[in-house]
Amino acid sequence: MAANKKLLFLPGDGIGPEVMGQVRRVIDWMDQRRHVSFDMEEDLVGGCAIDAHNTSLTDATLDTAMNVDAVLLGAVGGPKWDNVARDIRPEAGLLRLRKDMDLFANLRPATCLPAMSDASSLREELVSGLDIMIVRESTGGAYFGEPKMIEDLPGGGQRAVDTQVYTTPEIERVCRVGFELAGKRGGMLHSVEKANVMETGVLWRQVATEIGKEYPDIDLHHMYADNCAMQLVRAPKQFDVIVTDNLFGDILSDCAAMLTGSLGMLPSATLSGADESGRQRAMYEPVHGSAPDIAGEDKANPLASILSFAMTLRYSFDMAEDADLIDQAVTNVLARGLRTGDIMQDGKELVSCTRMGEALCEELDKLAA
Ligand code: NAD
Repeated sequence: MAANKKLLFLPGDGIGPEVMGQVRRVIDWMDQRRHVSFDMEEDLVGGCAIDAHNTSLTDATLDTAMNVDAVLLGAVGGPKWDNVARDIRPEAGLLRLRKDMDLFANLRPATCLPAMSDASSLREELVSGLDIMIVRESTGGAYFGEPKMIEDLPGGGQRAVDTQVYTTPEIERVCRVGFELAGKRGGMLHSVEKANVMETGVLWRQVATEIGKEYPDIDLHHMYADNCAMQLVRAPKQFDVIVTDNLFGDILSDCAAMLTGSLGMLPSATLSGADESGRQRAMYEPVHGSAPDIAGEDKANPLASILSFAMTLRYSFDMAEDADLIDQAVTNVLARGLRTGDIMQDGKELVSCTRMGEALCEELDKLAA
């Protein structure tokens, strides 16, 4: 089949290349067994790009990222680059990718696979079967609003300012992503803010309500962010899709993520809106970082990256059947008792990153037989 699906691979630093190596294995499997081929380029981002080019993201890499269908990223950073100048540090490359590609909607699923339901910090019955999608606005709000500064006070001490700011279009577009996803899932959307104490919350609630009129079949709920945090640890299965701002989304998605077990299992997608030609930019990456403590030891869990690739198929290529196949293979490989160190439990079989990737492809073989 013609390779018309363009992917940019950015493995990055630490365990990034190891886990992305296993994603390549899955892509090779798809090529051979499903006859789906991808046109793949690979490039540098983060610390390895600093070493090679003295910047964590070159203009050329950014240009490639802007012209592919999806970017697949490993992880960036590590102690080697902790003291480089702030504007070239590894994370700066990531932030630039997100900003210049206008990736405003960060999708973070929190799914509790059956074999992992006893790995959660919550009681099994609270999380078994959990399937939440958190949509976090990721280019606005308190992390980017101006003014943003620390200034000296005349009498000594300093004053720090971050600005929480949102416009109607920024809220509209991310809420639409939330409503669309809810329509494809359980039909329920929680819009989360702090309208009781924040003006951005008041506007957020107004806009979400207005957009909701376009989606009469979606059951829209408004919830304060502090209550949402409590509800996530009290009764997480009440949620289907949650849409919220950058700051609250950062915290709530990490909180929801931990309900499911381990960092090494968590995928994410970040999407732009569609341009005039209907094209949507997207970046897929595991939630975890570069794990310098285990880098190079073939111990990393590749499943978050592999699940991120499944999200690529689902959201960038409309290949839900193939995405389901990979999700099922992950479920099966865990049910078989295979575990990397981060998710190891009594009585299970400890495997390497490479072995986990191989075993996943064995499960894919069985499913496709
Ligand atoms: P981390 O996610 O890299 O690691 C936290 C802990 O989880 C470590 O003990 C690590 O071994 C373990 N872990 C993480 N992913 C794992 C996996 N796939 N399999 C097995 N174990 C895994 O977070 P950190 O230690 O706070 O940060 C390390 C570096 O990563 C820092 O330089 C940080 O800036 C960077 N970072 C990058 C990203 C990103 O690229 N998006 C995200 C977070 C942190």
